[in-house]
Amino acid sequence: MRLNRRQLMTTLTAFAALPAATQAADAPLSVTATTGMIADTARNVAGDLAQVQALMGPGVDPHSYRQTRTDIVTLSRSDLILRNGHYLEAQLVELFDKLSSQRPITAVAEAVPTDDVIYNTIYEGRPDPHIWMVPALWTHAITATRDAIIDLRPEAADQLRANAEAYIAEAQAAESYARETLATVPEQSRVLVTAHDAFAYFGRAYGFDVLGIQGISTESEAGLARIRELVDTLVNREISAVFVESSVSDRNVRALIEGAAARGHRVQIGGELYSDAMGQPGTYEGTWLGMVDHNATTITRALGGEAPASGRLGKLSAGL
Ligand code: ZN
Repeated sequence: MRLNRRQLMTTLTAFAALPAATQAADAPLSVTATTGMIADTARNVAGDLAQVQALMGPGVDPHSYRQTRTDIVTLSRSDLILRNGHYLEAQLVELFDKLSSQRPITAVAEAVPTDDVIYNTIYEGRPDPHIWMVPALWTHAITATRDAIIDLRPEAADQLRANAEAYIAEAQAAESYARETLATVPEQSRVLVTAHDAFAYFGRAYGFDVLGIQGISTESEAGLARIRELVDTLVNREISAVFVESSVSDRNVRALIEGAAARGHRVQIGGELYSDAMGQPGTYEGTWLGMVDHNATTITRALGGEAPASGRLGKLSAGL
């Protein structure tokens, strides 16, 4: 159920007085994350020290997500709230503003050093929020998560540091794999056409030109002029594959393929990428490391590079 501003304020006031869910000092912390990527990170860092839940599941678009009444109850009863920040959760800004006086809130992606942040000129100069696409950058979010939990459980600092260190080592292995496999894509084919601009960090890190049909938020509409411009690019650069995203409608991507076909250039769908949400819970693609592996492997194979079909660890589902 969606709430308007007044209902939101009333609900917030009603729940402000609730105690946090955690009572005993050694009971697991209740941690609520906005996206699945942040929740997965928190689970890996916290281990059995926390019960972690995500507000947004597979296929959910964080740019347009609005809180439900249940979300407000969950957030109001959490010991710690983890959000991405950099305006990813655009519709939740007001809610987090209000909650910040009641609960510790950490914007994990905002831990990335300013020099590494991409400021997107087509989106009012705002920072690009899609940090999780590059493991080398997401390690800043891992350490921010670790520190936020240490603040609440200082006596477990050693364990939390060890967990984070092990997870960062995995992230580094994922980074090396992405770098090596994506480098096998022939240079002229290093063009990534996707539904919305979620891959700017990815493109910068691995040397791909990235062309999103929509802007960095899915809230903006793709105009016909933009579609026509991209069809020109597909034809002129002989790009043979474009990608759909699990959390964004594929309508615009199909318009591109039809536009290119009308000009005698065949373009296929190179696969479905996980841009702003992960795969199903309980699957490898439903983890942040699996998502990163899936994207690097799918892009590499669709654009003529070499990567094992089952990915870095042999865990990817075939045929995606
Ligand atoms: Zn996005």
